[in-house]
Amino acid sequence: MQIIPGIYLVGSQDCFLTYTDWFSPHCEYVDSNVFAVDLGEEIVLFDCGNGASRQQIFENMRAWGLDPGRISHCFLTHPHYDHAAGAARFREKGIKIAAHRICAEAVRAGDARTCPYLYHRPPAPSEVDIEFQDEDSFSVGDFAVEVFHTPGHADGSVVYVFPWRGRKVFVTGDLVAESGSTGWSGSIDFNPKAYVQSLKKLAQMPVDILLPGHRRPALSRGKIWVEEAMNRSIIQWGNG
Ligand SMILES: [Zn+2]
Repeated sequence: MQIIPGIYLVGSQDCFLTYTDWFSPHCEYVDSNVFAVDLGEEIVLFDCGNGASRQQIFENMRAWGLDPGRISHCFLTHPHYDHAAGAARFREKGIKIAAHRICAEAVRAGDARTCPYLYHRPPAPSEVDIEFQDEDSFSVGDFAVEVFHTPGHADGSVVYVFPWRGRKVFVTGDLVAESGSTGWSGSIDFNPKAYVQSLKKLAQMPVDILLPGHRRPALSRGKIWVEEAMNRSIIQWGNG
């Protein structure tokens, strides 16, 4: 579905765009949101889901007039299975996978940092083509993305920020989601102090459109969700 002109939600189990019939008590969170940004000649994705939903994602894209053959890059927000286990299957199609260097290390290894234990699935490792440093930037043609390392939910998590038609878009992975909810705290590298620090960093930014890793996006005033998440996380985990 189109979020704003040129930006689409093309995969999401909890928004009923994809469906994976795996046993998991966390069934809503088996497959992440996958966003597509239409740059004209190219399309870039943010996250790729669990891999089992690749065909559904491509069908959704075609339904909205987006040719999956135009996807050039997929930017991973963090290494968790529901967001990144599809990387190898998208890479088979010639799509370049981009991630923070720690996320890249986890995805290449397909180790416990990717959380296969949450879904009772075998690991799904993938090569990663482009690695980001803690604060970095990357361009696809004229489309420039800023990268900010925001660990806590998982190490190697990032927030991607890019300008879009006069506004700022923030892709937050599982750092912050609808109404200021925070991400799952069962990662083997979950770090509550780092989580609070990451939210403090994000709270300094002019968050407008917020595209989270699960559930619905905020079409404006995403900063309210960030401040809510920071407030809740300090109460819950202490002032990191
Ligand atoms: Zn996650």
